[in-house]
Amino acid sequence: MSLESIKERINQACERAGRNPDNVQLVAVTKNHTSAEITEVVLSHGHKHLGENRIQEWREKLDDLTDNAVIWHMIGSLQRNKVKYCRPFSLIHSLNSERLADELDKHGEKHNHVFKCLVEVNVAEEDSKLGASSKQAEALVDYAKSLDFVKVQGLMTMAPYVEDAEEVRPVFSNLRDLGNKLGLKELSMGMSGDFEVAIEEGATIVRVGSAIFK
Ligand SMILES: *Cc1c(COP(=O)(O)O)cnc(C)c1O
Repeated sequence: MSLESIKERINQACERAGRNPDNVQLVAVTKNHTSAEITEVVLSHGHKHLGENRIQEWREKLDDLTDNAVIWHMIGSLQRNKVKYCRPFSLIHSLNSERLADELDKHGEKHNHVFKCLVEVNVAEEDSKLGASSKQAEALVDYAKSLDFVKVQGLMTMAPYVEDAEEVRPVFSNLRDLGNKLGLKELSMGMSGDFEVAIEEGATIVRVGSAIFK
């Protein structure tokens, strides 16, 4: 696969769903790849949206990639003691607790920086996955409205791994319904194995890693 072929598959999924491809943002997930690989496989093709899931790893690559006007997405679970590094992220996909929201708000206030976030929802309610249940997510979205330096723009979910992506279609449609109910526009859902189904169900952001680098 390559970035181009993933973009082509995104376009085809949009066509099937009667959607405009401009409304689906591909985030190339670059975790576990070196700056050189990222440059060759993604940035040299003019793609700017990159996702990382570990602050430490991301910071080690950051210096090599500053020339490229990268638009960074934080997609992994975020510890509160790492919030101080997070201002370069254009979007944090993994807001999953009031405590984390408070920490972001506190740091944001100090630096007059508004953190754009998505609330991570554990739609499938798997014990092994982080993220709030749908009910908790609603409460968290509501809570964040009281914070001046945290702006929730949508929801994010990770579907369980399955052989046949059709099995997780309800996970994506549930997230879409919750987003509609809460009046939130962005839906970050879909990874290498299931991004086409996610797009058919309304994803506005897909996070694709291994399929690009394979
Ligand atoms: C790694 C990761 C992805 C991308 O997964 P692939 O299956 O490699 O496409 C997407 N979202 C999150 C949160 C991840 O950690």
